[in-house]
Amino acid sequence: MDPTVLPRLRALLRPDQLDLSDSALDLRARGESSDRQRRPDVVVYPESTEDVRAVLELAHATRTPVTPVAVNSSLEGHTVPLEEGISLDVTRMDRILEVAGEDFLAVVQPGVTYPRLNEHLRATGLFFPVDPGAEASLGGMASTNASGTMAVRYGVTRDLVLGLELVTPTGRVVRTGGRAPKSSSGYALTQLLCGAEGTLGVITELTVRLVPRPEATMGARVAFADVHGCVAYVTELIQSGAPVARCELLDAPAIGAIDRHLGLDLPVVPTVFLEFHGDADAVRRAADVALELARDHAAAAAEQATDPQALATLWTARHQAYYAFVAAHPGMANLITDLAVPVSRLAEVIDASVAAIKRLAVPGYAIGHVGDGNFHLTLFFPPDDPAARERVDAAYGELVALALAAGGTSTGEHGVGWRKLPYVRAEHGDAVDLMWAIKDALDPAGIMNPGKKLPPRAAPEG
Ligand SMILES: Cc1cc2nc3c(=O)[nH]c(=O)nc-3n(C[C@H](O)[C@H](O)[C@H](O)COP(=O)(O)OP(=O)(O)OC[C@H]3O[C@@H](n4cnc5c(N)ncnc54)[C@H](O)[C@@H]3O)c2cc1C
Repeated sequence: MDPTVLPRLRALLRPDQLDLSDSALDLRARGESSDRQRRPDVVVYPESTEDVRAVLELAHATRTPVTPVAVNSSLEGHTVPLEEGISLDVTRMDRILEVAGEDFLAVVQPGVTYPRLNEHLRATGLFFPVDPGAEASLGGMASTNASGTMAVRYGVTRDLVLGLELVTPTGRVVRTGGRAPKSSSGYALTQLLCGAEGTLGVITELTVRLVPRPEATMGARVAFADVHGCVAYVTELIQSGAPVARCELLDAPAIGAIDRHLGLDLPVVPTVFLEFHGDADAVRRAADVALELARDHAAAAAEQATDPQALATLWTARHQAYYAFVAAHPGMANLITDLAVPVSRLAEVIDASVAAIKRLAVPGYAIGHVGDGNFHLTLFFPPDDPAARERVDAAYGELVALALAAGGTSTGEHGVGWRKLPYVRAEHGDAVDLMWAIKDALDPAGIMNPGKKLPPRAAPEG
């Protein structure tokens, strides 16, 4: 880092807004599940838009890399400061600025987490419906375009962000979008920034859409002898148009690991967990349809669940799945696939994924937000075994190729970070050059989260 940067940061911010301690640098050196580590030179804690603006203006002038970070729960090494420089930790910008219930929206700073927003909204009858599990921040969720268990009904984060305040990489403060439920004005910059993974600037405020809490909620558990049976069932359920709010698949090893980790006794069989939202009659009808279809598909077990406490326990367990897998394999590295395909092609991709677990002979778990065609395989291997890593990477490359051929994507919700870079060009072709043109226009010095999101530029022809 340019030697003038630290003294100039000290002139801009209070001493407690800069951290050079080993513990702070180590904490920001790695992401959740990322095996690549690099310490930043300094961790900076902005407390206002003006703090962010001043830091980015300085970083642009001195060509200092800046990596935004919030809860640091992203899974593809998004927050590892690959070129060192500044880790810009936005967690102190955590104020809920406004709740406008009559307009179904809230205005928040980027460090507000979605569980805290929902706690704050409890008395209003409204909630923010994207739930990536880890207690993620709204700024981080917008930046990865996170989804989660309820996207099948309510959409992904990008669908629920109406407007943003952004500090651009050159240090300008701009507003995108607004408060209207819809708009056809200008380019859709809000949607572009949702999913930018901190490569196009720092989000300092978000206006997000809220939805009414459902009047009634009902769940169902449907088990099959194998994962294929689950997927065939889900495909028909979704294609029937049933108003599903959550539709999660867990294979038997995944349920076993969750049982052990949380002391539960869920039956250890491939299972689809469902939830329906609506008025009492609608959810009852939807649950009846789900059970009838389960009988048609010769399910091994099928039952409805109405007890709110039991449902809450179930979804907490689902959100703990990743931690349960990690706890079962201490010291091992892991790779998580995040393929998403049209629902009609889900069965072939999941069958290939399950076959990959067997072929690779490494511990693996299959879970997915299968209602929207999104599916995760978590594969474990020893971090010091390059041959095992190569086999896992190669198998993943094959699965990505299969998903792309089926009209799918290499990442349905986790984003690219640096770990999914090898698949971006295969998915987007020449559109990657357009993405670089946008990146260059907004960040001419290339300081924002370098080494993430976009693969290297195409070599010039000839
Ligand atoms: C157990 C577990 C379960 C998960 N389940 C899901 C799931 O179901 N669905 C899903 O989508 N994800 C899931 N994730 C991944 C993760 O929770 C999401 O990627 C989440 O959106 C990250 O939010 P964060 O606050 O942790 O952001 P961080 O990890 O801190 O940052 C994520 C990215 O956003 C950038 N960023 C952060 N804040 C800003 C800002 N203010 N301005 C600009 N850029 C910023 C960072 O540079 C980085 O590129 C899971 C993770 C875990 C650990």
